[in-house]
Amino acid sequence: MDNIQQQLNITTPSPEQVLQPHWRNAEHYQLFCKRDDLIHPVMSGNKWRKLKYQLAQKDKPRQIVSFGGGHSNHLHALSHCCRVLQIPFTALVRGDYRHNPSATINDLVANKTNVVYLDKKRFQLRSHPDYVQHLHQQYPGALIIPEGGSHPSAIAGVTEIVSELTQHYDYIVAPVASGGTLAGLITGVRQQKLRTKVLGMAVLKGQGYLEGLVTDLIPAEQATANRDDAPEWQIEHRFHQGGYAKRPAELQDFCQQTSEALAVPLEPVYSGKALFALKQLMAEHFFSKGAKILFLHTGGMQGARSAPSV
Ligand SMILES: *Cc1c(COP(=O)(O)O)cnc(C)c1O
Repeated sequence: MDNIQQQLNITTPSPEQVLQPHWRNAEHYQLFCKRDDLIHPVMSGNKWRKLKYQLAQKDKPRQIVSFGGGHSNHLHALSHCCRVLQIPFTALVRGDYRHNPSATINDLVANKTNVVYLDKKRFQLRSHPDYVQHLHQQYPGALIIPEGGSHPSAIAGVTEIVSELTQHYDYIVAPVASGGTLAGLITGVRQQKLRTKVLGMAVLKGQGYLEGLVTDLIPAEQATANRDDAPEWQIEHRFHQGGYAKRPAELQDFCQQTSEALAVPLEPVYSGKALFALKQLMAEHFFSKGAKILFLHTGGMQGARSAPSV
């Protein structure tokens, strides 16, 4: 296990640092940031956390197949892992980037990933059992990893974020898309019986749907809450800014100004969108006074290199 971390040059534990933004009501809280964006120069933080135990199986998979969009941090991280670990990798990409490759696609190609473009209709089948069966025939012996890497076996790697923490927090805040990261944080909090509330910021329109994804990924033995006096996790749905990867000018300005002011890189799809939401919640007195809040920086800067505008 640690062997694979060494092979891939992963630096954990990631640091926890104090943030002191000049936001409305920020003086009432203690804000920290766990810098999972720093665990590797190429791979996005939470994507490695989710892949760790999927890749560290006793028998190396003959090949790997996975899914994602043209700027996917997951495909990017997995492509890098597969190159270093010498596992043939096929990326099934939503849409056709042949004539207009993104920076992410260019990196996949440089890593010798077999990039296959799927039209939107076919991509929608990605978790349908018949289609997955078909992929098993097409790619014999393949480990097929779901979009975003959010598979039940991803959870153990994410819980390590919680076991690395150096102090108690009242809240852990993180962006939510395919749910694996939030499910792992909740599982970690339950395993360690912490009185920490896990707050997910939805980066896409998914009220109800995202809660279902997260609930399904929490392992059965951790499926009951530590305490019944207060809800221990929740997803905030007011700050998706129009949908996945939508980035109004106000959000882009926030990312740029806040990156400079706090000396933390931010992109508008995940980390910047979630931190923007946190700023609004502080202004609304959402958190109890004096609360210690940990913002998990999940990485993702690579995806912002040639992202579409708006
Ligand atoms: C994928 C991703 C997320 C979302 O995590 P999920 O486990 O899919 O909910 C958050 N931040 C970054 C940078 C990501 O790449």
